[in-house]
Amino acid sequence: MRYVSTRGQTPPLSFQDAVLTGLAPDGGLLVPESIPDVRGELERWRTLSFQELALEIVSLFCDDIPREDLARLIERAYASFDHPAVTPMVDVGERQILELWHGPTLAFKDVALQLLGHLFEYILEARGQSMNILGATSGDTGSAAIAGVRGHHNIHIFIMFPRGRTSRVQELQMTTVADANVHALSIDGSFDDCQALMKSTFVDLDLKSSMRLGAVNSVNWARVMAQIVYYFHAGLRQRAPLTFSVPTGNFGDIFAGWLAARMGLPVERLLLATNENDILSVFFNTGVYRRGEVHQTVSPSMDIQVASNFERFLYYHCGEDASRLVSLMAEFSAKGEIRTEGPLDPLIRARSVDTRTTLATIRDTWQEHGYLLDPHTAVGVAAAETLAPGRLVICLATAHPAKFPEAVQDAIGEDLAHHPAVDALIGKPVRSVELPADLDAVKQFIREHGLTT
Ligand SMILES: *Cc1c(COP(=O)(O)O)cnc(C)c1O
Repeated sequence: MRYVSTRGQTPPLSFQDAVLTGLAPDGGLLVPESIPDVRGELERWRTLSFQELALEIVSLFCDDIPREDLARLIERAYASFDHPAVTPMVDVGERQILELWHGPTLAFKDVALQLLGHLFEYILEARGQSMNILGATSGDTGSAAIAGVRGHHNIHIFIMFPRGRTSRVQELQMTTVADANVHALSIDGSFDDCQALMKSTFVDLDLKSSMRLGAVNSVNWARVMAQIVYYFHAGLRQRAPLTFSVPTGNFGDIFAGWLAARMGLPVERLLLATNENDILSVFFNTGVYRRGEVHQTVSPSMDIQVASNFERFLYYHCGEDASRLVSLMAEFSAKGEIRTEGPLDPLIRARSVDTRTTLATIRDTWQEHGYLLDPHTAVGVAAAETLAPGRLVICLATAHPAKFPEAVQDAIGEDLAHHPAVDALIGKPVRSVELPADLDAVKQFIREHGLTT
């Protein structure tokens, strides 16, 4: 399988190159040259374990790593999960909750980043190379990225976070990691400062190539690919047709579900649930995609302004016509808004859920079923109530509530959200490097502490 850019100006890449490249050089996102049709496999796949199914699905997209090696990488990646089913499903009233948070940082991002860490290590090893990963985080991505590559000998990771402005649990998940290849950079500034520092560092092409700087952001193709697996794993254990409800920020998670449907999983509906940051729910209800202000909510991992993975969806919406996509993206940068013609996607129904409803959903679910939802998952459950009342819906649970104990406390009035992995962080030695929001200081630190080949 080869990978092409949504903007059409990058020569096709192999899987391994697509994984290392992340964003395409022409500024586009990489997509597979064709989407495999797996309808003939579904019966056989029904009884496979998560890891076996991951091997089948990843093999369709990756033809430049031997199957035995892929099997080993997948085994290692999911050995870090604390449940034998990896992503188990539980009944909560008439909803089914697909628990995607059994990985090391208790958020669904581990499903992809655990595998990506092993893929990076393997590909670099084969090429005799090393890599320095630079990221900026306001929450879950940084800790999951660190957990994905900690201890890998040919990778160093530098994650910038705004000092004092991430949640306590999120900060501890980054600063209590003792491995020497992990650098948590506590920046004296805002998240926007961190992101600006990251972008400016990547623009320094000299540093970028001499230090082989890479990113683990949500546009990496391997992250989308790894997320396709749980849609099949959960969906094949249910009666068709299927409805999934997906708490959405950058459109990575729900896009994996959309691909699963294109591949032949019998999906009838994907419910796209946003918080007050409703750029995507507005789009799927009106056809207008308009940049807005970021609102801070109780589901901070969905507080986004522009959904970075959405370009992949638009590309397919344009009939895989890269030149049309390029003109749409240019229009969006110029005007901050685009309008698409043609029928919107028949699979997707969207809704934005406000904070009051989110907290009420956490409280009601606890009182009626004794099950504690995290605020992101609650947004998806609330959307399912209005978009698919009385239907069987698989609701994706994207984080464990112990990551967001303040929201649970606000909803229920009690300190109920605990997890041994979070409780164990308290009192552990912490380690971070305090840096000013200054480009030279960040670059200097990476030069001095990163790997060079
Ligand atoms: C990242 C994240 C989301 C949003 O996922 P996208 O792929 O960005 O749409 C939802 N919930 C949690 C807990 C997250 O960490």
